[in-house]
Amino acid sequence: MDPSPLFYQAGPALPEVSHARGVYLWDEAGREYLDGCSGAISCNLGHGRPDIRDAMLAQLDRVAFTYRTQFENAPAVALAKALVGLTHDQLQKVFFVSSGSEAVESALKLARQYFVASGEPERRRFVSLRPSYHGSTLGALGVTGYQPLEAPFTDITIGSLKVAGPDFYRHADADDTLHVERILAETRAAMEAADPDTIAAFILEPVGGASTGARMLGQAYLERIRALCDEFGCLLILDEVLTGVGRTGTWFAYQHYGVTPDLLATAKGLGAGYYPVGAVLARADIVEAVMGSGGFQHGHTYAGNPLACATALAVVEAIQREGVLSNVAARGCELEAGLEALKARFAWVGDVRGLGLLWGVELVADSDTKAPFPAEQNRFARITALAKEEGLLIYPRRTLDGVAGDHFLVTPPLTIDAADTAELLARLERAMVRFDHELSAAAPA
Ligand code: PMP
Repeated sequence: MDPSPLFYQAGPALPEVSHARGVYLWDEAGREYLDGCSGAISCNLGHGRPDIRDAMLAQLDRVAFTYRTQFENAPAVALAKALVGLTHDQLQKVFFVSSGSEAVESALKLARQYFVASGEPERRRFVSLRPSYHGSTLGALGVTGYQPLEAPFTDITIGSLKVAGPDFYRHADADDTLHVERILAETRAAMEAADPDTIAAFILEPVGGASTGARMLGQAYLERIRALCDEFGCLLILDEVLTGVGRTGTWFAYQHYGVTPDLLATAKGLGAGYYPVGAVLARADIVEAVMGSGGFQHGHTYAGNPLACATALAVVEAIQREGVLSNVAARGCELEAGLEALKARFAWVGDVRGLGLLWGVELVADSDTKAPFPAEQNRFARITALAKEEGLLIYPRRTLDGVAGDHFLVTPPLTIDAADTAELLARLERAMVRFDHELSAAAPA
């Protein structure tokens, strides 16, 4: 076979996908894969849904593309109203984009323009967590705390003040409450040292995603960050690119905590893998200030086009119609129980954490000391490869900042049923047994 001109990643050649249905994909060689990570935590309704296809085809037959400054389009207005409704009108305005990175970029720029418009132009800096992932475009990368991705670009990104978030697995404080107190005290001190009057916004993922292996921040921390933002007069941006649109069992993850952001970025699950679409949701007064000073100086060609919005509207309606959020809660409990059982069985599973159908599994060389595997052993890649051989896709990551361990995410489509959840766990168990044998074989006698 000719070498492929694509250059996404180094590594072995990939199987060529043939087709997909529900939570399963097949490659051209006829091998079946259970999609245990919804692609990139995006195919939230599973594959090959006739209702989404029908909505897309109907829209294609009417009009696929119009430019947002030339025409209003009904699917965009309906989707925007639906999203506002899903926040219970806590965020009243919507700006569409085509990806998570664009959603984060847009939120950062909106925050900045808001302060320019409201007479505080010195507010130009952002605070974010290390580790974190907010996207790969230069603005979103600037607030990302993930060293290997940042390294080649630190000189040319906006950068941000990076602070540690709570780590309930590895902290050495007397208890979780004291840990949160210490982290918050450090964050406050860092913001004060940086001059709070220069800070436009604090951005964070309410439940961590790929960069932290679903690290939870918790109610107390999120409440106090909200209060800190209010005290320092900066905005709170929640990056719900991964957690939004049902992944954690509520429409948005912040709804578990009752901590309302000023701006919210979402994407991935909004198009559910059927079409790229994302959105920024914002408080009306922020948008009004910006619109009153000449409008938002921002936008992307494909943003909010009719086909994107019709697709996302069909996704939202399917989640509502089929009671998908209760399925997330039920399957999430089963997945949690299954992963906890695997943790009890294999000493190298250090931590299992998550919410809804967003679960992270952290691997350690020593569960007592929580020492990670040596980075060069690439254990995260090995367990992912074994899972794939067992017909299961999981989402791997080695985190080098703060969270030292290898980890993987288990994030199946939100529509997965009980039988397929059990099948997912069975395939994962087989992969873990093989991984365990390899570790024993490699261990000194
Ligand atoms: N923010 C978060 C929390 C994400 O998980 C991602 C994607 N992994 C992004 C932003 C960037 O989204 P995209 O890849 O669609 O640009």
